[in-house]
Amino acid sequence: MPDSQPSSVENIIIIGTGPAGLTAAVYAARANLSPVCVEGTQPGGQLTITSDVENYPGFPEGVMGPELMERFRKQAERFGTRFVSGDVQAVDLNQRPFTLTFADGRQSKTRALIISTGASAKWIGIPNERRLMGRGVSGCATCDGFFFKNQDIAVVGGGDTAMEEATFLTRFAKSVTVIHRRDTLRASKAMQDKAFKNPKIKFIWDTEVSDILGENDVQGLKLKNLKTGESSEMKVTGLFVAIGHQPNTGLFQGQLQMNETGYLWVEPGTSKTSRAGVFAAGDVADHVYRQAITAAGTGCMAAIEAERLLESEGSH
Ligand code: NAP
Repeated sequence: MPDSQPSSVENIIIIGTGPAGLTAAVYAARANLSPVCVEGTQPGGQLTITSDVENYPGFPEGVMGPELMERFRKQAERFGTRFVSGDVQAVDLNQRPFTLTFADGRQSKTRALIISTGASAKWIGIPNERRLMGRGVSGCATCDGFFFKNQDIAVVGGGDTAMEEATFLTRFAKSVTVIHRRDTLRASKAMQDKAFKNPKIKFIWDTEVSDILGENDVQGLKLKNLKTGESSEMKVTGLFVAIGHQPNTGLFQGQLQMNETGYLWVEPGTSKTSRAGVFAAGDVADHVYRQAITAAGTGCMAAIEAERLLESEGSH
């Protein structure tokens, strides 16, 4: 267990308890590595803020996001994963064993580290956005689009994600209105063309969403035209916020290789980061798929790779 005076060295510490971290924990625990899993401020990760998950294999009737994560956690616990709460505030990856320092000063040392700190959707930060999350406000069209059959909905953002989400959502929705704060899109030409050609997609330019209306679910939006200052209201039953994601990698800046948007670099086809003994799994190293099932898959890879490394070093 983490302690302010670390007397022992853990085999594996996993930071993050989303699908990637908990799958890594199941595999590492079943390999008798007695892993420690660090739960931060959002135990269970992004799935805990979605409602029904209908695309996770093995659940033909669907499953609620929080319940799915509770099941992952129980499975990891069953094989001996130890859970500790706390915010890791600093890591020293320059020397093995690696050292983790928690916000309250505790420290832990570990031979192998699995980073599964995920990514966070960026949110607009307006009133009612958080309150109506999962009740009409979503950050993931793949997860929630299905619930908006024949409805009028809106997407905020002007990048590739917004175009991709808007286009995907036309499979279900009656209409999709893209609301963008400027009058030109940031998205690639190909994605723009696809969205412009889609008869179900409309655009509102130079406009921000200033509030979300509705008591128990989304009933409409308050809009503000940024050029004229004019306010208006719009009736929609869903709002998809697609203004980008940011990987939770601030802790590792300067110690691990990252791409230009901050996602951890991993050796292709593996979970190995730029430092031996440090592995990355899930959204923290994946800006392409960002699905629970792919996160779980890479969590499995990370645990197997960590186990093989420890075994080759004779430390397990
Ligand atoms: P992005 O390119 O950073 O675009 C974010 C969009 O959201 C921008 O249009 C931005 O407006 C807007 N925005 C940011 N903050 C906002 C706020 N507070 N309120 C309102 N609007 C806000 O992010 P992304 O679309 O997620 O794409 C990220 C990266 O992934 C890009 O490199 C993209 O090419 C890539 N990607 C690729 C694909 C694909 O090829 N299939 C799919 C998705 C993403 P401004 O334009 O005014 O800054």
